[in-house]
Amino acid sequence: MKKIFTMIGAGVLLHTTVFAQQPERCGMKAWHDKMIAQDPSWAEKFQAQKEALQADAESYLLYKAQAGTERTTVTSAIPVIFHIIVDSAQFNNLGGTSGIIKRCDSQIAVLNRDFNKQNSDSSLIPASWKSLYGNSGISFGLARKDPSGNCSPGYEIRIIAGSTLTDAGYDVINETTPKEKLASTGLASWDHTKYFNVWCINFTGAAASLLGITVPPAGGPSSQHGVCILYNSLGKTTSGAGSFPSPYNKGRTLTHEVGHFFEIWHPWGDDGGRCPTWSSTASGCSSGTGSDDGISDTPPESDAVYGSPTYTISGGTIHDCCEFHGTTETQPIGVACLSYMDYTDDGAMHMFTTLQAAAMASKVLVSGGESYSLTQNPSLLVPCTTTGVEPSVTELKSSLSVYPNPTTGEINISVNSQEEILDNIVVVNLVGQQVALVQGQNKDYYSIDLSGLSKGIYFVKCNFASGSVTRKILLQ
Ligand SMILES: [Zn+2]
Repeated sequence: MKKIFTMIGAGVLLHTTVFAQQPERCGMKAWHDKMIAQDPSWAEKFQAQKEALQADAESYLLYKAQAGTERTTVTSAIPVIFHIIVDSAQFNNLGGTSGIIKRCDSQIAVLNRDFNKQNSDSSLIPASWKSLYGNSGISFGLARKDPSGNCSPGYEIRIIAGSTLTDAGYDVINETTPKEKLASTGLASWDHTKYFNVWCINFTGAAASLLGITVPPAGGPSSQHGVCILYNSLGKTTSGAGSFPSPYNKGRTLTHEVGHFFEIWHPWGDDGGRCPTWSSTASGCSSGTGSDDGISDTPPESDAVYGSPTYTISGGTIHDCCEFHGTTETQPIGVACLSYMDYTDDGAMHMFTTLQAAAMASKVLVSGGESYSLTQNPSLLVPCTTTGVEPSVTELKSSLSVYPNPTTGEINISVNSQEEILDNIVVVNLVGQQVALVQGQNKDYYSIDLSGLSKGIYFVKCNFASGSVTRKILLQ
């Protein structure tokens, strides 16, 4: 993959970005390469998985056509937990807890639109691509219960010292257990069979140009399964505190990475600028035979497309050096640079193709599929109070997030409220005795050290104008 601008054909408009160099859209190729370096047999596994995609997609489309008569399946939205690991400056840059809530809400909305053919910018899809505008039928919601059964806002926040994760993204690729996925230094995975785990972190060091990286369920330790994205690319933002400058501010970093989690690939096949089945001598192509994404409705493509291409070809997108195989035109409607799986700007990607969408659905919506279990937990999506009943007015106005839970000592308390905290935030034991407190100062974030207390169950209580909110925690 390239870290420099790539000019492909005519009409490519490049936007100014905040990055000193063009960011890597994602680190999937780096992850694949690392897996193969650790165990060469992964090369065959990845190839076999890619080659099976077409059949997976076609089988799903057939299954879908027959579902009403021959096969049925019941699925629900996938519970998403956002693990946000930032330093205090980044936390403030996101707009604090209230800003993070908006980003999480908007990110879920973006995912649901993009995966269900409901994105408003589909109006920009050229006419010749409209028939390929795919609908995966996969939907998402905030996880409203944590693995212990406690209420959850769908996110948890860990404020770290700025120097703790200096090579964060690099660790995702190179370490068996990345620091940001450990409870002791970051935030650990929630049950990967029930929750979709998204870590929002700052990529620095060797990975400073990354926007996202995915560990799909097919490989790597299960504690890593999920997506890491650059914290500031979370959600759709336009202006105000924490807004992420164009062109990566429409929430599509996660759309792209979720595509990888459901096992679809970059349209150009990550082959170093080659054409899929032949060696092209056309300008712009690397010599040698390359590969593709295993999907037949994404035309042959040599390499990633960056920026915001102007679709100057009537009814199509743009062409590249794989346009002709001999005298055969392989890109009659251009390349799939408008797919969420290319590297174009957030505002220049508008669709999954029919087969990309069907390939993902085959993994998610069909019993036995790799990620099917994620769709079988509707109770995790239901907003709750600490007693598990319907949300009260108090709960809707104010909430607390306490983490990590269980804890071995220090707990972080994130406050989501438009109201004042009336007095202290207190910690009480099972018989109601106060064992710790922190003075309420109407901040979004507090920290209490409980390491001197006996192990067991405690409750964190906070009084707001509309009532009190309590969270149960386990000290281990
Ligand atoms: Zn990617």
